[in-house]
Order: sequence, then C-alpha cells, then structure tokens
Amino acid sequence: MGEFKTINDNLIKRLLGDIERDRVIENAPMSKYTTFRAGGNAALLINPGSMAELFSAVTILKMAKVPYMVMGNGSNLLFKDEGYDGVVVRVGEGLDHVLVEQNVIFAEPGVKLGQLAKIALEHSLTGLEFASGIPGSLGGAVFMNAGAYGGEMKDVVLSTSSLRRNGMMRDRNRDNLGFGYRTSAFQGSDEIIIGVKILLKPGHPYLIQETMQDLLKKRNEKQPVNMPSAGSFFKRPEGHFAGKLIEDAGLKGLQVGGARVSPLHAGFVVNEGGATAQDILDLMKVVQETVKDKFGVTLEPEVRIIG
Ligand SMILES: Cc1cc2nc3c(=O)[nH]c(=O)nc-3n(C[C@H](O)[C@H](O)[C@H](O)COP(=O)(O)OP(=O)(O)OC[C@H]3O[C@@H](n4cnc5c(N)ncnc54)[C@H](O)[C@@H]3O)c2cc1C
Repeated sequence: MGEFKTINDNLIKRLLGDIERDRVIENAPMSKYTTFRAGGNAALLINPGSMAELFSAVTILKMAKVPYMVMGNGSNLLFKDEGYDGVVVRVGEGLDHVLVEQNVIFAEPGVKLGQLAKIALEHSLTGLEFASGIPGSLGGAVFMNAGAYGGEMKDVVLSTSSLRRNGMMRDRNRDNLGFGYRTSAFQGSDEIIIGVKILLKPGHPYLIQETMQDLLKKRNEKQPVNMPSAGSFFKRPEGHFAGKLIEDAGLKGLQVGGARVSPLHAGFVVNEGGATAQDILDLMKVVQETVKDKFGVTLEPEVRIIG
C-alpha cells in the first residue's frame, strides 16, 4: 500500500467544520465501497449527506488543491492495490431525493437505478424497466450511459445539472449530453452530475412490473449476480460480443489468483474471494492478449480503473 501525501490534519479539520464526522473516512478501504470487493485504500472518502455538504466538500478541496474524484455506487470501478492518493467523493444516500411530476422525474444522482425504476412503476411510468437490475446510481448511469436489454439512459434523460470544479453550475439538455455506447459528455469533463431530469411515458403498471420481472429473471439466469464483479468487464467491440469472443478463445473459467472469468458468463470477471486488483488486471491482460491473437479484436475495459 502506497504512502498517501495529499491529506493532512488541517484539511480534515476544515472538512469537519461543514461535514458530519462519520461522513469523512480516512484511509478508506475501496474494496468495501466497490462491488468488485477488491483494491486498495483511498486517502480520504467523503459521503456527503446533502447538497450543502457536497458543495462544501468540493469548495474546500478546490481551495486546498487536493485531487479528488467522484463515485456513485462503485459498480463499475476498480481501484488499484496501491490505492488512490486523493479524496473520493461518494455520491449516494443523502443525495437521492426524487420528485415525480406527471411523466417527468427530477432526481438527485445518488438514487439507485433499481429504486428509481420502482418509483417509475409506482407512478405507472414506462421507460426505465431496462435499468431495474443495473446496480448503479443514477449519476454513474448517466456518466456511463448505462444500458441493458435494448434500453439506455440516453433514451430517457432529458437534461442534467452539474457542478464544475470551479464552482460554476452547468445545465445540459439532450442535445449536448454526448451520449454514445457507454459514454457521455461527462467522461473527460470536470462535472459532477447533481440533478437529472428524466422523461418517461404513461404505461400500465401490470405490464411495467411484468417487464421488470422478466428482465431480472433473465439477468439472474445468465449473469453471476451473486459474485462480486463490476458487471461486463469489457466494452462490446464493434460487430462482436466480448463474452462470446472470450468463450470462443477457451477462456471461460480461467483464473488468476482470486480473479476468474465467470463460468456462467464469460463477459464478467468475478472475484472468487480475496482477489487483488492486480489479479484482476493480470487476468484482464491475458484475456485481451488471447482474444487479440486469436481473433484480431481489441477488448477495451468498460470498468474504470483508478490509480
Ligand atoms: C452485477 C452487475 C451488473 C451490471 N449490469 C450492467 C448493465 O446491464 N448495463 C450497464 O450499462 N452496466 C452494468 N453494470 C455496470 C454498472 O452498474 C454501471 O456502469 C453503472 O451505471 C455504474 O454506476 P455507479 O453509480 O456504480 O458508478 P461508479 O462505478 O461509482 O462510477 C462509474 C463512473 O461514473 C462516475 N460518476 C459516478 N457518479 C457520478 C456523478 N454524480 N457525477 C459525475 N460522475 C459520476 C465516476 O467518476 C466513475 O468514473 C453492472 C455492474 C454489476 C456489478
């Protein structure tokens, strides 16, 4: 584990002036905060409990010139074993308020997609069924343009509000969200998504619920949902399916240390217990090299690797 240099007592004292004590965690084990259950520590993790705490944290971190990053539910992240010498601002519970007005949902980024899909169902709104089994936050899902079973965030997001590192707010509408396959304008930007407006359509609650249940059943049958992972490890290469290429290359079930290509779905890398981030990265490399050798296809990780 590396030595962290960015955090000092003075910074912590300033943060604690504005943020509740138990929301500021030093030397935070990121294996606890990511669905991969692997990886090193962050020098500091802040769980803002309100927009006011989020704004204070960002202002203080900017003034102190401390590197920081944002995370949601940690379901698409792998922190390297050396950890992250900076502050992780975790947008989740406390920043998860939702308001429904007719067929528009105004939501904070920390709400989980499963919860949001349930709220849509309760209001007989259709369009978010695809998202019900994706274990991310709304902010992470917009950032990634998460999608499944023919639906994507880009189909339902009308506009967003975000906070820039210079403290300015930015509103984006559908035309400048830059959505593409697992990408959005937020990738490579300095913006923290703080509000999302979603447009759905009136639907029949029975049909909405049935679709959600069908999709969850498919997911539970085809994906290793009970093993720690970050979902599909690789992006879908154009004209191919990553899982099929990996399976056809004979790599299904391949294990490096505690990391394994899932025997259920070769597109997933799972943590069999005690995997280090390095195990996962070593396995990733073997898979990439073998698939490249056999089929000439380059596999790019969908999982975001930090450190
Ligand atoms: C079992 C399993 C199944 C999955 N199935 C799917 C699937 O079907 N489809 C799919 O697309 N994905 C799937 N995933 C991957 C993952 O759930 C999605 O990518 C999800 O959208 C990530 O959201 P998160 O909140 O966990 O983001 P995190 O993993 O915490 O972060 C991902 C990225 O988003 C950024 N980010 C997060 N919140 C914000 C914010 N408020 N403002 C700015 N940037 C932010 C982070 O900086 C990071 O770069 C699956 C994962 C697992 C573990």
